[in-house]
Formats: sequence, structure tokens, C-alpha cells
Amino acid sequence: PAPGAYDYSLLIKRLLLSGVRYQPDQEIVYSDKLRYSYRTLNERIQRLANALSAAGIKAGDTVALLDWDSHRSLECFFAVPMLGAVLHTVNVRLSPEQIVYTMNHAEDDIVLVHDDFLPLLEQIHGELATVKGYVQLTESNAKATQLPVVGEYEALLAGAASHFEFPDFDENSVATMFYTTGTTGNPKGVYFTHRQLVLHTLNELGTFAAYEGQPLLRSNDVYMPITPMFHVHAWGVPYVATALGVKQVYPGRYEPNTLVRLYRDEGVTFSHCVPTILQMLLECDEGRHTDFAGWKMLLGGSALTLGLASQASLKGMLIHAGYGMSETCPLLCLTHLRGEDLALPMEEQLPQRIKTGVPIPLVDLRIVDGAGNEVPHDGQSLGEIVVRAPWLTQGYLKEAEKGAELWEGGWLHTGDMASIDARGVVEIKDRIKDVIKTGGEWISSLELENLISSHAAVNSVAVVGIPDAQWGERPLALVVCKPGESLDQQAIETHLLQFVDSGRINKWAIPRQIRFVADIPKTSVGKINKRLIRETEQAGAAS
Ligand code: ADP
Repeated sequence: PAPGAYDYSLLIKRLLLSGVRYQPDQEIVYSDKLRYSYRTLNERIQRLANALSAAGIKAGDTVALLDWDSHRSLECFFAVPMLGAVLHTVNVRLSPEQIVYTMNHAEDDIVLVHDDFLPLLEQIHGELATVKGYVQLTESNAKATQLPVVGEYEALLAGAASHFEFPDFDENSVATMFYTTGTTGNPKGVYFTHRQLVLHTLNELGTFAAYEGQPLLRSNDVYMPITPMFHVHAWGVPYVATALGVKQVYPGRYEPNTLVRLYRDEGVTFSHCVPTILQMLLECDEGRHTDFAGWKMLLGGSALTLGLASQASLKGMLIHAGYGMSETCPLLCLTHLRGEDLALPMEEQLPQRIKTGVPIPLVDLRIVDGAGNEVPHDGQSLGEIVVRAPWLTQGYLKEAEKGAELWEGGWLHTGDMASIDARGVVEIKDRIKDVIKTGGEWISSLELENLISSHAAVNSVAVVGIPDAQWGERPLALVVCKPGESLDQQAIETHLLQFVDSGRINKWAIPRQIRFVADIPKTSVGKINKRLIRETEQAGAAS
């Protein structure tokens, strides 16, 4: 070959070659505050690169971002890695102590901070060992601050040149990093290279459009993320949307009524969220009066119950499920229905749709028993999901031992317990650490949640195992009733008995402890916080 003929590395800048060029007038919307074109996006990415370079940022440095989902975050998704620097999206919902830990551990050099988080950073600035300066992200009047501020984002962009020549470099350079939500111990840093993000983007781009039935994201769609951009790059979809040149709507801080209004006013057709957010969308004032016909919703992050999926589906949403985790960039599996499933009425499709689907192309996924042998593909046998794919974190940042554990035997261990059927459909039964071990048997907490959620008066439910002198552990269910409804222990038990009769669960799996509560504790990304529920129970039991 001629010299350089194959020297075309998979860099994030190449994702800007399509949408920006062929849809230059397409819109990027920031809540009700701002809208601009892809042409402007492209120019602002270059201005941002100039502004960051002027602030001293160079290849290998780390730029931290604390913002709600915005056009600015999208600009950073591109400009920072395209400079060769690493974008650290800080999880703004972690505790202040954990934020200090992650920012020091990541060795952040410069911090881009929305005014909403200035008080937090003023409080912790003295503890941040490596930070040299701050860029203020201001939406109205800049707040005065004692922090060493380099400038205000818009002013810096306005003052910077509109052209930047982005260099070529090794596609294996790290582009982004962030921290797991760390429900036990300190959060762990995961990191992804240009090559990994480009491959992940191309794969989502393909699978979102290609599967039979309802394509999730195509060039005529309107996209709005509802999983935060600071957590696993909003599942990587902003990169896909930008490469495709679709209209994008960034909602700022998640407020359910605003999200529903944006859906309606901007004509959103595709979003992704965790089940908790879906529930909020359905229940908020605006949501109750809005028809969601045609809104394609990709659910992931935790198992979707049948009850919630039916509620959403009755309102017109098209429900799909995906599976992944922070460590996996994230996407591993996606709902994949076939012709015969798609021909069924929607309520009969839903049980298929809420499973975690099939591994997407290039993902080698196995379900293995304790000895590392694959379990039969019978939809019953349980084991741990282990994976290999081109876009998995290669370890945990500066935690060699934990990284080696994650990658034991050359496979990434997910900690998720699942079955796989003859068609390759994966169904997660529980996290290994959440499964309830009672009298030598296992109960899937997700299965119980699913069945309890199918009671018409149940709004949401969490099931955990709590220590029991006789059985080792017993299930405890926390139940939130729908507004205006009330239930008692007997009603839930009677409801569950029908599944005993049909063989779905064993009688001993029925929780004898059911607590009716107003709210279920959630983690920083809106998942049920089972560890906290167990701890609260144990503290209660001990006192
Ligand atoms: P955290 O570990 O803090 O919850 P992650 O976002 O990395 O943060 O969560 C990944 C985990 O979420 C997976 O290991 C799995 O247990 C769960 N999960 C993700 N998608 C699904 C799904 N579709 N069904 C069931 N569980 C899921």
C-alpha cells in the first residue's frame, strides 16, 4: 500500500464527518433556553478547543465537567477528547466526599462547572489537589466566586478563534472516564479509548436502526437523553445522534414535567431512561394528560417490571430494553424481536420486550456456572454473565487488583445472574449480590418485584433479602401503592398465590414481610438502592 493509505485511526473527530456536513441546519436544542444548528455545534467545538488550549490543556490532561445534560456537555464530548485530553464526567449526584475522592483520583486539571454546583466546589476546592482552574458555565448572570476562575464558558468561546486543526494520534488513547456509582466502598474509575467509543457508536448506530420491527434511531428521529450524560456517556447515544445528524434535545436538569413538555413541543421520538424515570414521566401532572404515542423508549440500568412496561405501553410508548453497565461503555444486549413476536398483540410482546434481549454484534457473551462452564441455553439454568467485546473498560483506574478481579480469566465479570434461551435471549434474574438465599434455595428479587408490580394497585416495589435466623435470609418487600389505593399484606399474598399455582414461584418465596411505604430509596442514578434498604433494615432490627 501507499504510505499512509491505511493510516486512518478510529478517532472521535471522525464522528463529526457526517451529521455536521450533511445536516448543517439540523437543530440542537437546550431545554427552553437555546437552539442552534449543527454548523454552530461544529464551530463551537473548535472554539472550545482553542479556549481549553489557551487555558493550558494539552494531550493527556484531564478535564472535569459538572453540568446537567446540555449542549455544552455535547461540545465537551467532542472537543476534549479531540484535543487528546481526557473528559472526566463527574457524577454530580455523588456525595461531596465521593466527588472529592473521584476528582483527586482522576487528577483533574481543569474543571468546567455549572453555576448550580459552584457552592459545592467552593466548599471542596481546598481539598482538590490537582485542579488548576475553573471555567464557569453560566446561564444568566455569572455568580461571583472566590475560586480561581479562568473565565466564563460563553465568553471564552466568543473570544476564541473559530478554527482548530484537530491532530491525529493513537486511537488507543483514553478519551473519557467516569466513576461507577459505588454502592460499596469508593467509586471505581472506568475509562474508554477513542477506538472503543467509535466502535461502540458504530455498533449502536447499526443495531438501533437495523433490527426488524421498530427501529429506535434513524436520521428522521428526534432524540432526547433521559439518562445523564455524566453516567456512561448517556449510553453513548449523543455520539450516535451527532454522527447521524438527527435533531437533539438536551433537557438540562431532569424535571419530569419539563421532560414531558419537551417531548411534546420538540416532537421527540426516541429517548432512553431507567425504570424509575419512566415511572415519573407517567405520573407527573403533564405526563398524566399526555399521549405518548410513538415515543420509542429504551429502558436499561435495571430490570423493567411488566407492570410498568404495560402502563407505558398503554399510553402509547414503544418499549425496548437494553443491558449494560458502567464497565461496558455500556451497551451489551438489546431487545430483538422476530416476525412471529412482532405479529402478537402488544401485551403479549411485552414479556419478551422486557427481557434483556440478545447480545449485539461483536459482543461475546457467556453465562457460566461457578466452575466457569457455560450453562445450557434452556432459559432456566442460571449463571454469571461474563463478556468480551471491543469497548469494555480495560480495568479500574489505578486499581490493578480490582481490575484483575473484574477481568478474571480474560472475561469481564458482570456480577449479574441470568439465563439464556435457545434463541440467545438473555434474561437477568438478579445481581449476584441481591439474590435472596433462603433455606439453601435462591429467590430472584427481580422476579418477585415483577410479580408484585403486576398487581393493579401497586405503583412500585423493591424486594431485598434480610437475615433470618432459621432460613439464612428471607425476602422483604417494600411496596408503594398507587395514589388513592391501599393494600395490605393479605392482598399481596393472595396476588402472589396465583403464581404459585401456575408454577412461576414457590410458595416459600412469598414474602411474609411486606412494608407499605411512601417512597423507595434510590441511588445517585435513580436505581433502587438495595444495599441501603438492607442496611436500614438491619439497623432497625438491631435497635
Ligand atoms: P450501578 O452498578 O451503580 O447500578 P451501572 O449503571 O453500571 O451502575 O449498572 C449496571 C447494572 O445494572 C448491571 O450490572 C445490571 O445489574 C443492571 N442492569 C442494567 N441493565 C439492566 C437490564 N436491562 N435488566 C436488568 N438489570 C440491568
